Amino acid sequence: QCQTPDDVLRVISEKGIVFIDLKFSDPFGQWQHLTIPAHEFSAESFENGIPFDGSSIRGWKGIQESDMLLIPDPKSAFIDPFIEDPTISLVCDVEDPITREPYNRDPRQIAKKAIEFLKSTGIGDIAYFGPEAEFFIFDDIKFVNGPNIAYYEIDSIEGWWNTAREEMPNLGYKTPYKRGYFPVPPLDKMAEIRRDMVKTLEEVGITVEREHHEVGTAGQGEINFRFSDLVTTGDNVLKYKYVLRNVGYRHGKFVTFLPKPIAGDNGSGMHTHFSIWKGGENMFAGDQYAGLSEVALYAIGGIIKHGKAIAAFTNPTTNSYHRLVPGFEAPVRLAYSARNRSAAIRIPMGSASPKAKRIEVRFPDASSNPYLAFTALLMAAIDGIENKIHPGEPLDKDIYSLPPEELANVPSTPASLQEAIDALKEDMEFLTKGGVMDEDFINMWIETKQEEVDAIRLVPHPKEFELYYDI
Ligand code: GLU
Ligand code: MG
Ligand code: MG
Repeated sequence: QCQTPDDVLRVISEKGIVFIDLKFSDPFGQWQHLTIPAHEFSAESFENGIPFDGSSIRGWKGIQESDMLLIPDPKSAFIDPFIEDPTISLVCDVEDPITREPYNRDPRQIAKKAIEFLKSTGIGDIAYFGPEAEFFIFDDIKFVNGPNIAYYEIDSIEGWWNTAREEMPNLGYKTPYKRGYFPVPPLDKMAEIRRDMVKTLEEVGITVEREHHEVGTAGQGEINFRFSDLVTTGDNVLKYKYVLRNVGYRHGKFVTFLPKPIAGDNGSGMHTHFSIWKGGENMFAGDQYAGLSEVALYAIGGIIKHGKAIAAFTNPTTNSYHRLVPGFEAPVRLAYSARNRSAAIRIPMGSASPKAKRIEVRFPDASSNPYLAFTALLMAAIDGIENKIHPGEPLDKDIYSLPPEELANVPSTPASLQEAIDALKEDMEFLTKGGVMDEDFINMWIETKQEEVDAIRLVPHPKEFELYYDI
């Protein structure tokens, strides 16, 4: 692993590197890239940055202030396994070329500011994040019925999902409905692809802890990698998505992190394990409920209080809200519990060690930008800790089957992206503290997300034909 610009330059000469691929996250969490031949790259590139035109990047500023600088982070260097010529990839920060200030719409810079803000509060000096991004592997996705009532038909090796229920009990090696977790092959037809993904993740410096098929019938999977600090984990999530997509593609498959690709099957979440540390000590471990500290309870209080606004970042697509429904292990209430997987926050009890104490936030999904999703969670936690927001009693029951009376005071996760962005409009101060996210950025986010909501409103849904065609 490289630490300094010199380390990177040494690798470039020792390994005969031909190209430098500069990668950075757009506001929505998609890696963009710009490639330069190695002879154009030097120690100065780290200092002065590499200029590029940012005007066509979605969510960034218009052409009047389009010149940007990419500042490569030497610690992020990896040999890119998907480019045939020896190539080093570097994850970059984005700066304004005139002021040399961090660009306020660069999500990685926002994540860095969140950590600086955490330090300035004295609450902690590092925040660890461990995400579990689930995904589906499909054979093909076909566009059905033309552009006016557009919908997609999905093929997957395990894509007899729809017929699986009808054809029971004669399933052959078909995965029974909702029973993908996790019989051995030949029922698990994705195992080899996932192992290829694991090998490639390890090649690019991500330490994998486990991989398995998930509950979803049509080829759902999950690969877990080692937790790290906020910025590194943000980098790792984007690297993870890059690796999974490209390995899948080389197998002739299509990997998707869409939160709910198939109605009636499980969705894909990105459960996020999270703790705050100070001076090498876990501030979330203590002698309160489930081995948590008071600080951790306040952090939970902050996340519950700001949950709907957070969702605008952790669940930022209209599709995200098809997942947050009862019956598929996804959370539907902003509550916490040590056991309950239907609660938005779970306290994993697998290890008694205080070092392992953390909270698992279950509502995020991988259609989010990880830098922003983690930043929103951290900022809400800080707000909860600073204002001693107690989260109330835990909800140790199966929320899906509770009668409405018992849930009267338990807030729901938002029902739609509209509800989440409306909540964000009213509740953004916790994010702007310390200048972490500024209003320009949040307003851009709200506007873009509103456009997405409106775009969906313009399209008749296939289900409407079923419900209303003959009325
Ligand atoms: N796929 C479920 C979700 O949407 C989670 C399953 C699990 O507990 O890992 O969050
Ligand atoms: Mg899972
Ligand atoms: Mg989990």
